[in-house]
Amino acid sequence: MDFELSDEQRDIRDTVRAFVTKEILPLEEDFLRLVRDGGARLPRDEERRLRAKARQFGFWGLSTPEEYGGMALPAVTQSLIHAELAKSCVPFRFGGEADNILYGADAAQQEEYLKPTIEGERLGCFALTEPGAGSDAGAISTYARRDGDDWLINGEKTFISNGHEADYAIVIALTDRDKGAHHGATAFLVDREAGWTSSPISTMGSWHLPASLTFDDVRVPADKVLGEVGGGFQLAMRWVGKGRYVISAQCVGIAERCLRMAVDYAGLRETFGRKIGQNQAIQWMIADSETELEAARWLALRAAWDVDRGADARHASAMAKLFCTAMVGRVVDRALQIHGGMGYTKELPLEGWYRAIRAMRIFEGTDEVQRLILSRDLLRGHTRIGGHLA
Ligand SMILES: Cc1cc2nc3c(=O)[nH]c(=O)nc-3n(C[C@H](O)[C@H](O)[C@H](O)COP(=O)(O)OP(=O)(O)OC[C@H]3O[C@@H](n4cnc5c(N)ncnc54)[C@H](O)[C@@H]3O)c2cc1C
Repeated sequence: MDFELSDEQRDIRDTVRAFVTKEILPLEEDFLRLVRDGGARLPRDEERRLRAKARQFGFWGLSTPEEYGGMALPAVTQSLIHAELAKSCVPFRFGGEADNILYGADAAQQEEYLKPTIEGERLGCFALTEPGAGSDAGAISTYARRDGDDWLINGEKTFISNGHEADYAIVIALTDRDKGAHHGATAFLVDREAGWTSSPISTMGSWHLPASLTFDDVRVPADKVLGEVGGGFQLAMRWVGKGRYVISAQCVGIAERCLRMAVDYAGLRETFGRKIGQNQAIQWMIADSETELEAARWLALRAAWDVDRGADARHASAMAKLFCTAMVGRVVDRALQIHGGMGYTKELPLEGWYRAIRAMRIFEGTDEVQRLILSRDLLRGHTRIGGHLA
């Protein structure tokens, strides 16, 4: 059994680590100042400058197929990269990516949506969730009815990431109520100019505010159907499933940074005449964090490995997301506790992470939905106890 990274994986990981250390970490202080003044992201110019620099390093389109100019990296390598990027609280992603389901777009749609999205000229959002349909996505009621050659969309979507900034939305709407969402929903590409409106939703984490979207007789031509009429739910599930190993890897990165901060602070801060790290209470928090982090790391990489070997990755991804998102909550909490009052301030990234990571246990499938997947797989005999080695 070989738990080593390949030379290539190590090289790529180390290059990203160097990029984060040299280019991103030095921006943290300014970013935290910006957050204290009510900001939520890097200034656009700064973001563009960083993306251009990353592109010079060769980092652009991590998951994007080579024919679109991307790197088409294996999922394990992508996970290593996402973990490195997550070590800074500065919200930054490499450019050159688009929603996975856009690759199924026809040639004209690829020119209008996919390619400009990859190039960073357009920004899309994915709109499935509604006020009455979250975990139970099959309960959506947004309806698109035929009107001549067009479709008229009516309904409300909620908690849509990038929904207030996007210039187009991928909207999942019922097109055949009799068939229900599983066979009677369709995905549409809907430009903001078509007439939908958005309003941001204030949340606990201030960095990425989702939005609610309102569709009031929004007219969409027939050539804006993404994929097949009636195939929208399958596309939606493909969209939802793709990110679970990425979220898990991000949790690993955040937890690694928090544990590093906790260990450093425990070796510096003195109370009652000695370092706080000399107290067993602090040592146990560090030990538990290290152990849980290691377990999470392997679950996250295992899920990505399943993707790379073409196996059905849903079970491993559900385990990884369930465990990693809870693990990072505990590790951030302990790191914050070890920092005492300083941990609670906005001078350090800990309190921001404490709030922001909470959403990870909700979006792209709640904890309970992951548990549903896992128990259902076992109870139906789809998965054997013992995992890959069974
Ligand atoms: C920051 C953020 C960003 C988001 N971005 C997007 C986006 O870009 N696009 C998009 O479409 N959606 C997005 N969402 C929506 C997200 O996917 C939903 O919030 C999530 O699926 C849960 O749905 P809900 O909020 O309606 O909760 P509900 O489904 O109402 O669930 C409420 C509670 O009941 C539990 N529960 C539900 N059913 C069961 C069951 N059968 N057994 C046991 N427990 C159950 C849930 O786990 C949860 O704890 C985002 C949400 C957030 C918070």
